[in-house]
Amino acid sequence: MALPRTLIDPRRIYLEPAVRDYARGREVLARFPQAETIEVESHWRIPELREGADAADWLRVKRETLVLGVKKGLAMRPNGRSADFIAPSSSNGCAMACAYCYVPRRKGYANPVSVFVNVEAIAGAIGRHAARLGPKPEPNTVDPADWVYDLGENGDLSLDAAVSNNVRDLVAAFRDIPGAKGSFATKLVNRDLLAYEPRGRTRVRFSLMPEAMARVVDVRTSPMSERIAAINDFVAAGYEVHVNFSPVIVHEGWEPEWRALFREIDDTLTPAAKAQLKCEIIMLTHNAGLHEVNLAWHPKAEDWLWRPDLQEAKVSQGGMENLRYRRAWKRRWLDQLLAWREALIPYCAVRYAF
Ligand code: SF4
Repeated sequence: MALPRTLIDPRRIYLEPAVRDYARGREVLARFPQAETIEVESHWRIPELREGADAADWLRVKRETLVLGVKKGLAMRPNGRSADFIAPSSSNGCAMACAYCYVPRRKGYANPVSVFVNVEAIAGAIGRHAARLGPKPEPNTVDPADWVYDLGENGDLSLDAAVSNNVRDLVAAFRDIPGAKGSFATKLVNRDLLAYEPRGRTRVRFSLMPEAMARVVDVRTSPMSERIAAINDFVAAGYEVHVNFSPVIVHEGWEPEWRALFREIDDTLTPAAKAQLKCEIIMLTHNAGLHEVNLAWHPKAEDWLWRPDLQEAKVSQGGMENLRYRRAWKRRWLDQLLAWREALIPYCAVRYAF
């Protein structure tokens, strides 16, 4: 396994009893024989993870805890931004700890990796869905030809690949689903994925931001220069590789940092990588609840994320009290970023920006 054990080294595995009925479940349990196993009724309801771990303890919980479950709902959800559809997750939770991440809000903030062992059912559901749709009738901003399914809405698949073969199986499944492509965003370089033979049917989206900011807010992720250099290798291995400039965190002095990032991309990428490159740009949205939580474990990040002088409140559809950059300023900043992109990496078309 290519990833350092400091990222994930399970000592305790919570599992739904049905997990042992699945080959994938038995395989993961055999991979970590030293781990204590604790049966739970549902992967969603593990009180120790919600209340037991205080903020100072989260990184240890993330490293030492794994949850195994069976994914129940297998419906696709329409998306239209990063993907045409959000596929049922093969996992949720994450061993990394980005300060702005919305994923932990769902399962207690330590939120260690939960892996679902019925990946065959997930791949089967995607295949049946794509077959029902038939060919994509016309190009859209997601993809000119294929229906794209997001596989990693609730975690980071590059990390999941260190725990089980789910990601390998999903990449393999998309080789045989006509008219469909898998896609996931990642902040981690896991070179094991280079051996998965995607044959152009899986899109990896490396998330990028200036390194100085990432060192504060992208906790436990791969350094930016490693992600940028990996783009060439992933393209050579048969992946389509796009980039997510996200979240874009506006601050005094952001311009030279973003220009340097775009220059590094231009200096590093091969002609083959540049020829297929596209991007998404997503301005930061923050959250009052997350702000309070972060103050308890990583207050430095809040100096950048919590900027009421630049932000305005917006209640989300789910009832969350979110903060986003003030509307008129946000538009202006987005236009500035788009202009720097146009000047320095004009071949990198924007799939969407907001
Ligand atoms: S890598 Fe992604 S899922 Fe993991 S903490 Fe960071 S933003 Fe969240």
